[in-house]
Amino acid sequence: MTGEPIYLDYAATTPVDPRVIATMQQCLASDGCFANPASIHIKGRQAAAVAGQARKQMAELLNTSAERIIWTSGATESNNLAIQGAAKARAHRGRHLITMPTEHKAVVDTFRALGKEGYEISWLEPDSRGLLPLDTLAATIREDTQLVSVMHVNNETGVIQDIRSIGSLCRQKGVLFHTDAAQSVAKLDIDLSTLPVDLLSLTAHKFYGPQGIGAVYIADMTSGGISPIMFGGGQERRLRPGTLPVHLVAGAGMAAAIARQEMAANARHVETMRDRLWAGISDMAGLTRNSPVDTAFAGILNVSAEGVEGESLMLGMEPVCVASGSACNSTSGESSYVLRALGRDDRLAQSAVRFSFGHTTTGKEIDVAIGRYRRAIDRLRAISPASASVS
Ligand SMILES: *Cc1c(COP(=O)(O)O)cnc(C)c1O
Repeated sequence: MTGEPIYLDYAATTPVDPRVIATMQQCLASDGCFANPASIHIKGRQAAAVAGQARKQMAELLNTSAERIIWTSGATESNNLAIQGAAKARAHRGRHLITMPTEHKAVVDTFRALGKEGYEISWLEPDSRGLLPLDTLAATIREDTQLVSVMHVNNETGVIQDIRSIGSLCRQKGVLFHTDAAQSVAKLDIDLSTLPVDLLSLTAHKFYGPQGIGAVYIADMTSGGISPIMFGGGQERRLRPGTLPVHLVAGAGMAAAIARQEMAANARHVETMRDRLWAGISDMAGLTRNSPVDTAFAGILNVSAEGVEGESLMLGMEPVCVASGSACNSTSGESSYVLRALGRDDRLAQSAVRFSFGHTTTGKEIDVAIGRYRRAIDRLRAISPASASVS
């Protein structure tokens, strides 16, 4: 009755590319590169070569050098390492840090934890589209400011921050700049040879790689130094100890290499899908497009609908898989803190649905999603006076 699942939740995670699976299978095979790449015997050296190749592929995607890539378990850990590591390494110079309330939880909660440890955090409010006003940033940076962290593409709305201008301002003022690029790496062109970014977080499963592997890019390994937050065997330049998971690293490298070839075509495709979806629903009454029309990554479309509740809407749309607000908040029952920071009231934030698209999304899937969305809203609104007073 409900039919095959239609997956429109690529911002939460993506299916693993078959070419990535093949690479990982080779690694995991008993005659593959299963050995510990830190071992100096022949099998270890083979594994190290595979891991080295993957590091090069990741670096090439970002147009930087391989030694600036530190593997982690994903963007959550990368954010923790970059932010805590920078704050701690520079604590003797000052303890003022700057970020925004619209960041991913992995950034917001890392700064909150630092706040409890005696750091002073400035939370800069976005404009109505979600962008950081540069003059606000300029006015907030002080003598003792050590780090600014502003994400590249927002995971709920897709808004793209002007990280080139933000980074330039930080460079002028001698402040480190970190960006959480989990949603933009392999989707938007990122050239770290010219982009003034000191620290950048990424995660492979947002671009058709495996879950559990990510990286932090560190522009300056010497003076820009960050402190480790874990201790152990000294791997990854002593910044992220632990045995390297070679099959995951190889998968992430392959995903990066594929993205480098196919990024432009994928970008055009998701834009076509997004525009088709919006064209199919935008005539409905009471819709608010939370993703800005310009300055947004086309792979994400976030829409609120008056008189309905997001979770009911999501369930009413089955088997179309979308996110209500953010998947990371979806068990808390709270409305999205990102949308509220953009000035949406609680009810409108509650009704938000995030559609997100990938290179495997088809026009037919979009058409089914349009139909389900419209029908679910009509049904919920028909019972809305009662449900409004009950909830
Ligand atoms: C997905 C995501 C993360 C977390 O990535 P993990 O791989 O789950 O650690 C962090 N920041 C943003 C913006 C994300 O979209």
